[in-house]
Amino acid sequence: MDDIIEKTLCALQEEGFIESNTETFKKLIQPANYFCKNCGRSAVNDYNLCNPEELSG
Ligand SMILES: [Zn+2]
Repeated sequence: MDDIIEKTLCALQEEGFIESNTETFKKLIQPANYFCKNCGRSAVNDYNLCNPEELSG
C-alpha cells in the first residue's frame, strides 16, 4: 500500500486504481493541500502530483 500511495494520481488513474480503490483514493485527495499545474488534479501530498503547487500561500 505504501508503494501505491507514493505514485502520482495520474499513474494511479492509468492503473485503474481509482475505480477499484475509490475510498483509498479519496484519502489521497482530501483535504487537498496541493494541486498539479500540469493536469489540474489536487491532493493531500505533493508527491502524488507530477507538478505540485501549494494551494495556500
Ligand atoms: Zn499532474
